[in-house]
Amino acid sequence: MQSIDVLIIGAGAAGLMCGISAASRGRQTMVIDHANKVGKKILMSGGGRCNFTNYYAEPSNYLSNNEHFCKSALSRYTQWDFIALVEKHGIPFHEKKLGQLFCDNKAKDIVNMLLAECEEKGAKVRIKRSVESVKKVEDGFVVTTSHGKWHCESLVIATGGLSIPTMGATGFGYDIAKQFDLSLYPTWAALVPFTLNPKMLEEFTGLSGVSADSLVSCNGQSFRENILFTHRGLSGPAVLQISSFWQPGDTVEINLFPDTDLFEQLKQWQSDKPKSHLVNLLSDQLTKNLAERLSQLWFSELAHKPIADIAHADLQQVATALQAWQLKPTGTEGYRTAEVTMGGLDTDEVSSKTFETAKVKGLYFIGEVLDVTGHLGGFNFQWAWASGHCAGQYV
Ligand SMILES: Cc1cc2nc3c(=O)[nH]c(=O)nc-3n(C[C@H](O)[C@H](O)[C@H](O)COP(=O)(O)OP(=O)(O)OC[C@H]3O[C@@H](n4cnc5c(N)ncnc54)[C@H](O)[C@@H]3O)c2cc1C
Repeated sequence: MQSIDVLIIGAGAAGLMCGISAASRGRQTMVIDHANKVGKKILMSGGGRCNFTNYYAEPSNYLSNNEHFCKSALSRYTQWDFIALVEKHGIPFHEKKLGQLFCDNKAKDIVNMLLAECEEKGAKVRIKRSVESVKKVEDGFVVTTSHGKWHCESLVIATGGLSIPTMGATGFGYDIAKQFDLSLYPTWAALVPFTLNPKMLEEFTGLSGVSADSLVSCNGQSFRENILFTHRGLSGPAVLQISSFWQPGDTVEINLFPDTDLFEQLKQWQSDKPKSHLVNLLSDQLTKNLAERLSQLWFSELAHKPIADIAHADLQQVATALQAWQLKPTGTEGYRTAEVTMGGLDTDEVSSKTFETAKVKGLYFIGEVLDVTGHLGGFNFQWAWASGHCAGQYV
C-alpha cells in the first residue's frame, strides 16, 4: 500500500484547485480521476471558451438550503484572486456581458494553467483511475483504486454533480456521503432547457434558433436575458437561469417586451403610425418570424389590421399575451444537458471554513457535490475555485 497526505477524488475545477492549494502548503497531494482527461467540464464550458468567473460574484448568486454557507469561502478566495492567477499565466480574456469573463482563445488555457500550477506546486494528477472502495481507518482512509491501494490522512471528494454523465459525471460523492451517514438534499437538473408538449412544439415549428430579449419569471424570481426557441422547447440564458427555480407543474411567465408598457406603446402607435399593421410594429422587437407566429397563434384576426382600427380592449389583450405569456413546460432536458445539479450534500455536515465533515475527521467535500449552486454566468466555477482553494488550506 502506498501512502500520501492528501488524496483528492475528481480532477475537475474544484479538485485541481484544491490540489494546488494543498501542495502549496507542502502537503503530499494526489488528484485522481476516472475520466481519460482532466477538467472535461472546463473544456466544454462557455461554448469552449470557459466563463471562468464573474466580476460581480457574491453570495446572492448562489442557491443553497443554507444561504450563509458559501459566504466564507467566497470572501477568502474571490473572483479577483482567480483573475490574478489567470493574468499571471498570461491568459487573454474578456468580459462578454454582465461581468462574465471568458477566455479569448480556448477553455484549454484554463486547464493548462491548473495543470501547470499543480506541477509547479508538486501536486500529482492521475487520470483513468477508478475508485473501488473507501474505508475509514484510525489515522485516515484506505482508498482502493484500479491502480492499487492508497492510504491518505485527508480524503477530498470533488466528484461534482450528476450533469452530463457522458462527460464523466457520477453519483460517487453522494454514495460516499451515504456510506458515512451524511445527509443529502434531493438533487435535480438545473441551468437546463425546458421541454414543451408536442402541440406547442408543433406551434413553434420553424422558430428553432430564434431568440428574444425577455424577462422570465417563476416562483418570485425573474431574469432578464434572451430566450431561445429550440426543436425540443425553450432554452437561452433567461430560461436556464429560471430553471433553477422551477419545479414540475409550475408555470413560467415570459415578458417579451421587458422595457415597455406595451398597452401604452400600442396606443401611442395608434396616433403615431395609424396605418401600420400590428404584426409589423411588433416585428421590430420580436423579429418578423416570431411576431408573425405569435400573432397567428394568439390574435390572428388582429395581426394584419392597421393598428388604428383595433379596439383598446383588444390591444390590452395583445399586450397581456406578449407581456405575461404563461408557459407550462412539460419538463426539462434533464442531466443530459444540464449545466449543474441542484441539491447534494447538506452543508450543515461540513465546515464552511475547512470543508471537513463534522462526523468524519479527515473527510472533505468541495465544489458542486455540495448543496451550493450558482446562477449562470461564471458563478459555478467561482464556487469550485473558492471551495477548492479554501479546503486546500486545511487538508
Ligand atoms: C456544458 C456545461 C457548461 C458549463 N459552463 C460553465 C461556465 O461557463 N461557467 C461556470 O461557472 N460553470 C459552468 N458549468 C458548470 C461547471 O462546469 C461546474 O459547476 C463545475 O465544473 C463544478 O466543478 P467540480 O470540480 O465540483 O465538478 P466537475 O468539474 O464536474 O469535476 C468532477 C470530476 O470528478 C470526476 N469524477 C466523477 N465521478 C468520479 C468517480 N467515481 N471517480 C473518479 N472521478 C470521478 C469527473 O470525471 C470530473 O473530472 C458548465 C457545466 C456544463 C455541464
